[in-house]
Amino acid sequence: MPVIALDYDDTFTDNPHAWAAVVAQLTASGYTVIGVTLRNRYMPVSDHYMKACEMVIYCAGHSKKEVLARLGYHDVIWIDDNPKYIVNSYADVNGTHFHVENAEDNLYTPLVVKSDGHEVEVIIQ
Ligand SMILES: [Mg+2]
Repeated sequence: MPVIALDYDDTFTDNPHAWAAVVAQLTASGYTVIGVTLRNRYMPVSDHYMKACEMVIYCAGHSKKEVLARLGYHDVIWIDDNPKYIVNSYADVNGTHFHVENAEDNLYTPLVVKSDGHEVEVIIQ
C-alpha cells in the first residue's frame, strides 16, 4: 500500500481541522500518512500537524521525492499545493537555497521526526 505524503505549508495549514479529519479517515482505511515539508529543522511545524501525521520529514529544500526515495519510500501518493517541489529542489526552482538566520551547518540536512520525538538525519549525496 502506498504511503500518503501530506504537505504542510498552504496544504495542511490551509485548513488544519479539515486535513486532520482527512488524515484520520485515511489512517482508518489502512494508509500511513506522513508529513513531508520543504522546511528544515529550524522552521518547525505545528503540533497539530505533528500529531496528525505518523512522522514529519523536513526535506530542508531538497526534492521531496529524492528524500523519500532515500528513506525507501518509492510508492507515494502526494498531496501538495506546490508539486514542483516534489521533483525539484528549492535551489533548482529559485536559483539559490533559502536562507535562515542563525542556522547551523545542518540547515540543509533533511530530518525525520517521528511521532515519539525520535529524530533521524537523512544523508543526500
Ligand atoms: Mg505547500
